Amino acid sequence: MSWDDFAHYAKAAADWGADYRKTIRDQPVRAQTKPGDIAALLDTSPPETGTGLDRIMADFERVVMPGITHWQHPRFFAYFNSNAAPASVLAEFIAAIIAPQCMLWQTSPAATEMETRMLDWLRQGLGLPRGFQGVIQDSASSATLAAVLTMRERALNFRGNIDGLHGQPQLRIYCSDQVHSSIDRAIWVAGIGQNNLVKIRTTGDLRHMDPMDLEAAIAEDKLAGRVPAGIIAATGATGMGACDDLESVAAVAEEHGLYTHLDAAWAGSAMICPEFRTLWTGAERFDSIVFNPHKWLGAQFDCAAHFLRDPDVLRQTLAIRPEYLKTHGTHDIIDYSEWSTPLGRRFRALKLWFLMRHYGMEGLRNRIRNHVSWSQALCERLRAEDGFEIVTEPILSLWTFRPKSASDEATQTLVDAINDDGRIYLTQGMVDGRKVIRFQAGQFDCEERDFDVAFDTITEIARRA
Ligand SMILES: *Cc1c(COP(=O)(O)O)cnc(C)c1O
Repeated sequence: MSWDDFAHYAKAAADWGADYRKTIRDQPVRAQTKPGDIAALLDTSPPETGTGLDRIMADFERVVMPGITHWQHPRFFAYFNSNAAPASVLAEFIAAIIAPQCMLWQTSPAATEMETRMLDWLRQGLGLPRGFQGVIQDSASSATLAAVLTMRERALNFRGNIDGLHGQPQLRIYCSDQVHSSIDRAIWVAGIGQNNLVKIRTTGDLRHMDPMDLEAAIAEDKLAGRVPAGIIAATGATGMGACDDLESVAAVAEEHGLYTHLDAAWAGSAMICPEFRTLWTGAERFDSIVFNPHKWLGAQFDCAAHFLRDPDVLRQTLAIRPEYLKTHGTHDIIDYSEWSTPLGRRFRALKLWFLMRHYGMEGLRNRIRNHVSWSQALCERLRAEDGFEIVTEPILSLWTFRPKSASDEATQTLVDAINDDGRIYLTQGMVDGRKVIRFQAGQFDCEERDFDVAFDTITEIARRA
């Protein structure tokens, strides 16, 4: 393919993309295909000879698009959104063309220096104090893994990497019973073991871990000769938006000298609005904080912002410097690959620069404020209906409900019927051992009318059931 051909097809793809996103409301949100439908349309072995791009593009529309769940659909109310604001898509497209590998400062100084600056813009946007330094990880899961590895190495005097875990003291890490599965996985991968992740019961409207229980669990472990290594708190956990009381968690951690990590993967974006920051009062006392600009802020996946009060302890855990990765004759540079487990890194800061410059922080705040108020208004409309009960109250734009006195099976049947209908997309969850329907809003371009469609769809389909 010549670069002139590339330009031709890239323009065609841009036109196709703009049409796709402009007419996306006409599509059912969740793919309506059955398992195996798409695989049946794909050849079982690779071609020996090449095919022209016209043909490939046509096949793409025919084969791929029916099996796509439209994550950029304004009525995507399932999971959490994974946004891709147009300005951010442009930056990703450009980054894909330059295709730099940004593992070291010298492998693209612009990427490193922009990353430092963009994370500081985000820090200011969130109202975090000076002193936090940031890095972009590929996912919140990776940031949490980096934090758990730091907890491990710090508690083992940095001997885990050298000696392995055999014969080391039994480490313990604490979190609430509401945390995301990525916490459990980080514990597995770090070799600490599921049984050493102590899940503290949650209480109160925000489902925070009980600080007395946390304190008691740590005291009991110490008495038994186990070694507490860290605490992981959540602001806006996935199930129902649980938020820990960060001041009390930080106080316990400081008393015991434990490393702290805060998972605000979803809710962190909302902290650009000062009025929501009461949900994470005390965040500034944490050692490590992660949030995903690729969720609610609008940056295209993948982009996880990871803030550290002391990057040195993370670097001590992860940095490794063979001769071929050294940069000689410079100092005061950052090699971000020393701050994460993968060596290779994409140019992710560019999309943050495009995003924040194009919309401005005020533009980004307005979107999040609208999502929260439209979602909460929908919650009130459903509450006023006879057939529904609100199970958990809105935390930002997330709340859960179910048909009144419905069995778990009936609740699931309703979610499935709603998603088969296609106008909106919702997911189910469990609250206190019972099935609920989860609603959250955060698609970058959603409008108030999309919430009217949500109300009509939910009430119509429930009535039909
Ligand atoms: C989405 C989410 C994660 C996982 O994020 P990835 O970037 O996909 O790893 C972790 N924690 C919470 C609370 C989340 O909402």
